[in-house]
Amino acid sequence: MLGSGSAGNSALVATNHCRILVDGGLSARQLVLRLEHCGVVPEQLDGVLLTHEHGDHICGLEVLCRKFDVPIYCNSLTREAVRYDNSFGRHRNWRVFGTGADFSICDITVQSFPVPHDAVDPLGFVFHAGSGSLGFITDLGYVTKLIVERLRLVQTLVIETNHDEKLLQNDTHRPWPVKQRIQSRHGHLSNTAAANVIEELLSGNINRVVLGHLSRDCNAPELALKTVRAALAKHGRLDMEIHCATQFEVTPRFRIGETSPGPFQPTFENAFFQNAL
Ligand SMILES: [Zn+2]
Ligand SMILES: [Zn+2]
Repeated sequence: MLGSGSAGNSALVATNHCRILVDGGLSARQLVLRLEHCGVVPEQLDGVLLTHEHGDHICGLEVLCRKFDVPIYCNSLTREAVRYDNSFGRHRNWRVFGTGADFSICDITVQSFPVPHDAVDPLGFVFHAGSGSLGFITDLGYVTKLIVERLRLVQTLVIETNHDEKLLQNDTHRPWPVKQRIQSRHGHLSNTAAANVIEELLSGNINRVVLGHLSRDCNAPELALKTVRAALAKHGRLDMEIHCATQFEVTPRFRIGETSPGPFQPTFENAFFQNAL
């Protein structure tokens, strides 16, 4: 995770052959610096994959893609929303897929699925490469049966623990409608809601969770970790690896599985995408 929180989100998903940025919600300068920290230069990116169009997921995207011509993978409504609010006039490198589609970027297979959130067509993802699978859900008001089904066999799960319910209720800075929005079915997952999702996945292959998208005022890493640990303790699953990503620091690198050695044979997947201008 290059950075995660209400003020900006971006993550790097990589194999030996492929490097995908999931969201570009830090400044382009920070994205470049944090990629460098991971030993990656922007020219090596195979694409930026977007969950949705909110500013905390795309604010560095325009500059990054203008400087380095990185392909942007997203669904068509998200592309329209991103283009409407930003000057993407000259960017031609859009790879548009349908919500719910499975597709490949080099040797990473991406499964997309809709999530309930107040954006035009927000997505969650499961990534597969070799023996590894990674679930990725941030920015969603609640978890549907379809989402649990999609995440059933992931080994590592990135999930938002946006707020502590009590801190949000007692917060005096946020007007009531904003609190309502956050808590709504198209808002964000609380620590408790995220812990419930993790509990639902315990019968599968999950062995690591990475918490993210914490609200600056209405949450703290200790609170999120405590809530999730308490839920795991109920099931005797304190063996689970738990990390909390933060806004200002790159997390350690999480090794999820093995991909087969040797050269990767690219397929002609690009035919799948509408490269509309
Ligand atoms: Zn967000
Ligand atoms: Zn959002």
